[in-house]
Amino acid sequence: MTVRVIHWGLGAMGGGMVKLLDAKAGAASVAAIDADPGKQGKTLAELFGVRSRAQVTADPAQALAAEADVVLIATGSFTREVFPQIVQAVEAGKNVICIAEEMAFPHQQQPELAAQIHKLAVENKVTVLGTGINPGFVLDLLIVALTGVCYSVREIRASRINDLSPFGPTVMKTQGVGTTPEEFAAGVEAGTIVGHVGFPESIAMIAAALGWELDEIRQTKEPIIAKKYRETPHVQVQPGMVAGCRHIAYGIKDGETVITLIHPQQVRPEVEGVETGDFIEIYGEPDIRLAIRPEIPGGIGTIALAVNSIPNVIASSPGLKNMTQLPVPSALMADIRTLMEKRRDYFGQ
Ligand code: NAD
Repeated sequence: MTVRVIHWGLGAMGGGMVKLLDAKAGAASVAAIDADPGKQGKTLAELFGVRSRAQVTADPAQALAAEADVVLIATGSFTREVFPQIVQAVEAGKNVICIAEEMAFPHQQQPELAAQIHKLAVENKVTVLGTGINPGFVLDLLIVALTGVCYSVREIRASRINDLSPFGPTVMKTQGVGTTPEEFAAGVEAGTIVGHVGFPESIAMIAAALGWELDEIRQTKEPIIAKKYRETPHVQVQPGMVAGCRHIAYGIKDGETVITLIHPQQVRPEVEGVETGDFIEIYGEPDIRLAIRPEIPGGIGTIALAVNSIPNVIASSPGLKNMTQLPVPSALMADIRTLMEKRRDYFGQ
């Protein structure tokens, strides 16, 4: 039978998942939920030019009444925000793939909610997975996978240097782009300039996989001050103003920094000769260096990971999972049903 998918959240990421799924054999979008009145009542075919005639509703209960194998949730960033959606989908007997950053490893900041999700998922015999480009792949899963060839690991340093230029006003505000250094400091203090969401989750995921007990996770957010004029359709940055946020997180073990994750996000980095990319350095036996230039594109990566995780999630044993607990994600280049059967073999089901 075709793998049936419900979409919850049809923005840049959720809409991309609808389109990618349409291009894959063996799957169908059967229902869709979005809070945006501009999308409600329209079909996925009208909104995204796909084959599915599923009509977008504001009513989750109506959409979740559809027979389906998995719900793709792309509505928000925080566990407490998506928790009611996950609970409702799980109680309707559906597997869940969610791209909320904190859901990549919800035990870190919301252990009680994570425990509730796990219990409910087991009771309802479904799987819940948090995924996405970062957290969910570049600064956690990819690092963990690289340590698999090491006898031992002493320290990990990794950075994702990316370009914020394609993004709109919301991202500019949350990264402090276009502010003065004073406004940036005040925004960080007030919590309006947040930088990257997901560092505690990435660090905790790496530590859990390696079996490191961390004393604490520390974070700093510094302004990236422009030396030259930089401009995008949404923001103008004069020299001396803030072009982005250099967000760094540290995992401390026995008083030593063992994990450093660096994420400088800025507009028009090339204006000042900054090369974007994903860089991982593992110090141990042996030392390992990985460089991906330019950075893996975040939108494509997140949409692909959500869709590509479908067979793994459906075939997995029940419960709340993170990306290190399922088979390695891979592009779906055959019928999804065939790939799912292969994954079932992996789990011995
Ligand atoms: P977006 O703003 O373009 O789209 C969100 C959509 O969800 C909108 O259509 C909105 O109407 C809908 N929505 C929001 N709350 C809803 C609710 N309660 N019920 C129904 N619909 C609701 O955002 P996006 O770019 O698609 O990203 C979605 C989320 O995923 C964001 O929070 C983003 O930060 C996160 N994200 C995570 C990663 C990762 O690496 N883990 C990567 C990309 C995006």
